Amino acid sequence: MVDISKRRFFTRKKIDSKQIRLPWVNSIQAFSDLCTRCGHCIDACETSIIIKGDGGYPSIDFTIDECTFCYKCAEICPEPIFNSEDSQPWDAKASINDSCLAHHNVECRSCGDACETMAIQFKLRLGGVALPKIELGECSGCGACVSICPTSSISVSNL
Ligand code: SF4
Ligand code: SF4
Ligand code: SF4
Repeated sequence: MVDISKRRFFTRKKIDSKQIRLPWVNSIQAFSDLCTRCGHCIDACETSIIIKGDGGYPSIDFTIDECTFCYKCAEICPEPIFNSEDSQPWDAKASINDSCLAHHNVECRSCGDACETMAIQFKLRLGGVALPKIELGECSGCGACVSICPTSSISVSNL
């Protein structure tokens, strides 16, 4: 009979540490070592943003929706991968690139309207429309600003 822990070891693939995994994951190493790719977190996610990523490991896709920090993924996971709910879910933060409409002098404040924590502020400037600026201290990395952006100019990553 094959030892299950050995089987996991031999079938384990190297995961991309830059990809956003799940909120409250205690370390990328623990996730890589202990996640069995069972998919229970995918079924539990209330906004369906958990997808099968590289090698079948769960990954977050903010182009679908935002993370509501419901903790259901952590709750259902049978492995000791997650921190307790009262800790900070992750270090993920949003950033906006130059394809943003406001950078091309087109008025748009969709991301600001979507941001519950009001982390996106618009700074007025002479001779152009107001530009969005993210106050990183206020950003929870929820991803609500990602799918709303008409030019796909926002990404969320671990800083
Ligand atoms: S905390 Fe909730 S909404 Fe966020 S990824 Fe987990 S299950 Fe989905
Ligand atoms: S529920 Fe846990 S073990 Fe299963 S795929 Fe999700 S993170 Fe991995
Ligand atoms: S990721 Fe969430 S908290 Fe951060 S700027 Fe976007 S909407 Fe606001």
